[in-house]
Amino acid sequence: MEKILISACLVGDKVKYDGHSNYNEKVKLLLEKYELVPFCPEVEGGLTTPRKPSERVKDRVKMEGGRDVTKNFQNGAELALNICLYLGIKIAILKENSPSCGVNKIYDGSFSHKLIDGQGVTAELLKRKGIKVISENEIDTLL
Ligand code: SF4
Repeated sequence: MEKILISACLVGDKVKYDGHSNYNEKVKLLLEKYELVPFCPEVEGGLTTPRKPSERVKDRVKMEGGRDVTKNFQNGAELALNICLYLGIKIAILKENSPSCGVNKIYDGSFSHKLIDGQGVTAELLKRKGIKVISENEIDTLL
C-alpha cells in the first residue's frame, strides 16, 4: 500500500494548539487504499500541547505574546521531510490554515483571524522537495 504523510490532528490526535484535534471523517475512507503516517510538525519540533497559537510572517513564526518559535517549526518541517524520504512517501495531506501545515492559506501574523494566501513551514518545505502536498479539502481527489 502506498504511504501518505498526514497531519496528526486530522486523524484525531489531540495535538492542536488548544489540546483538541481536527478530526476529519474522510480520513477513514483513505484507509482502504493507503497507509497513513500521522505526523505533527509542531509537537515533533519540540512544542508542548496545549500551547499558545502561532502565526507565520515571511520566514519567521511567532507565538501569540511574541515568543519566536521559528526554530521549532523548521525542525518539525525537516523531520517531516526525513520521514517522507525514509519511507518513500510522495504525498502529504496537511491541515489548511496552519502555520506549519497550511497548504494554500495561513493566518497573516496579526492574530486577528485574517487568512492570506501562503503556506505553512512544513507544507512549503515538502512541496519544494517534490512531495505532492494537498489539504484536507482535497482528500476526494485521492479516493
Ligand atoms: S502542526 Fe499540523 S499536525 Fe500539528 S496540530 Fe497543527 S495542523 Fe495539526
